[in-house]
Amino acid sequence: MARPVTAALRAGYAWSVRREHPQAWREVARMAGVIMRHCGPGRGPVIPAELVALLHQPLGTWLPTADPALAELVVLDEDDHLTDDTYEVGCDYTVEVLAGQEDPGERWLPSWRVHRAEQVEHTTFQRLIIGTDEDYVVGRRFLVENSAGQLLHILDRQTELGLTPLVEFGAIPQDRQWHGFWWACPVCAWPMSVSPSGIVRCHFKPHRATYTLLNGTGKKPLLQPADGSIPPRAARPVDGAVCVDESIWRYIVVPGVVEVRLRDRINAIAGVSADLYPCKDLYDIGVRRTTEESWRFTLDVKDFASAAALANKLIEKPIAAGHLVIPDYRSDQLIELRRLLPGVAIATETQIQKRIRRTMKEGA
Ligand SMILES: [Zn+2]
Repeated sequence: MARPVTAALRAGYAWSVRREHPQAWREVARMAGVIMRHCGPGRGPVIPAELVALLHQPLGTWLPTADPALAELVVLDEDDHLTDDTYEVGCDYTVEVLAGQEDPGERWLPSWRVHRAEQVEHTTFQRLIIGTDEDYVVGRRFLVENSAGQLLHILDRQTELGLTPLVEFGAIPQDRQWHGFWWACPVCAWPMSVSPSGIVRCHFKPHRATYTLLNGTGKKPLLQPADGSIPPRAARPVDGAVCVDESIWRYIVVPGVVEVRLRDRINAIAGVSADLYPCKDLYDIGVRRTTEESWRFTLDVKDFASAAALANKLIEKPIAAGHLVIPDYRSDQLIELRRLLPGVAIATETQIQKRIRRTMKEGA
């Protein structure tokens, strides 16, 4: 299932940038071929134009799937932009669709539309893997906490921590600027997109960051939060500001925000010490009593929009940690995950903190 889904996402991305990228048309045709092969003769889209029309419909209506989250996925909105759901559900499914042959998309598609999360992680942390465990943790955390900002500040921080450059930082993209300003998402701190109609938002929906631009009279433009959104951060000047690319944001920063937040919360419990990425990411978090050497709890945080996709992945490759932790905003997946993964200890961020606090108090 992952191949046709990735093909649909790649075709959708290509269609959304067809005016800027002449290769886009061929990519849509190539991906239509991948989907046609999957569907078999007489089923699915026959020509690229048909595929483009279907990308505006829920996936389940034209690509049979047992995963309800995937069945509801619409790839393109009415303005031919990728929907926010592609940044969530879509990412759970990304695989190579042209394995074993040259992939022309490699040269111009964003790498998170082509590669699995593990590959982006591997390429990014290649240099850290050969260093010490401590370098790995410091480097990875640095990236999560400095995915965007003033270049000079980021470089200073990098030097302070004794890090060599890990990834490239580029200028704030045009579609994330407004008259010389940009806004960091209050959760992931990466630049939010600014639509021509003045909607400013982080494309990762669980961050609940959607705002309307107000043409304030002050020097800095102001944002009005949409219903349910958390308060915004102040506008910052684009001048001298940089950010990591979208793949790093999606596959390292977005999950990293939850990992770092959870580690810091657990570490704040009296008598408890929590380490990020012990043994170069064998687990996401190792928890022990401050007076002890060995782990009491080992945690792996998994943030998938689709519980079914997560379960399949873990059946294929079980986690090494004792607990699977899902972000609080995925708590509605608990029942399904427990059903799909019997024998795996599963908790939300809040539940695992409570469990750790209780266990440490009891002295068990
Ligand atoms: Zn965000």
